[in-house]
Amino acid sequence: ASTRDLLLSRIRDVADHPKPGIVFKDITPLLADPKAFTALTDALADLCGAYGATKVVGLEARGFILAAPVAVRAGLGFIPVRKAGKLPGATLSQSYELEYGTAEMEVHAEDLGEGDRVIVIDDVLATGGTAEASVELVRRAGAEVVGVAVLLELGFLDGRARLEPVLRGAPLEALLTF
Ligand code: 5GP
Repeated sequence: ASTRDLLLSRIRDVADHPKPGIVFKDITPLLADPKAFTALTDALADLCGAYGATKVVGLEARGFILAAPVAVRAGLGFIPVRKAGKLPGATLSQSYELEYGTAEMEVHAEDLGEGDRVIVIDDVLATGGTAEASVELVRRAGAEVVGVAVLLELGFLDGRARLEPVLRGAPLEALLTF
């Protein structure tokens, strides 16, 4: 079967998580399957090469699990973008709108700078708010975003429509779309 079919077969729908009415896409079966996890890591590492990335940014928390092995496989540095208050050093912060309220992501300012070509990796693109804030952080640190890559895009939430104008032509790649 194709890589796509393999990955798709290892994502589990969990009804009513984290709230009633939400069908959560659970990637833990994929992580538990070494063939699928390796195929995913390889596919994302190939994108790093295609984009000419020099650094890999992963988004807390599941984005870390994917982006870290991708960085190692691609021979690139890994930079965490975290929820506010977690990083110990001097940070840049970016807040963004949620359905109810706001959230804030941070990056260590010294981890990125002029000349860095960054790929942003997360597990799922939903409304696109998390990815959008992360793109802004990378740019505010002085680096260039050369692409955003996710395992799964929830197409019905229109994250792509929100993110693409912000990306100014840089690719948004989803290995799977639902
Ligand atoms: P957004 O900011 O695009 O609305 O939400 C994306 C973030 O929420 C990602 O960091 C992702 O991990 C998480 N997320 C939202 N929905 C799901 C889901 O159904 N499954 C998983 N695994 N993560 C989700």
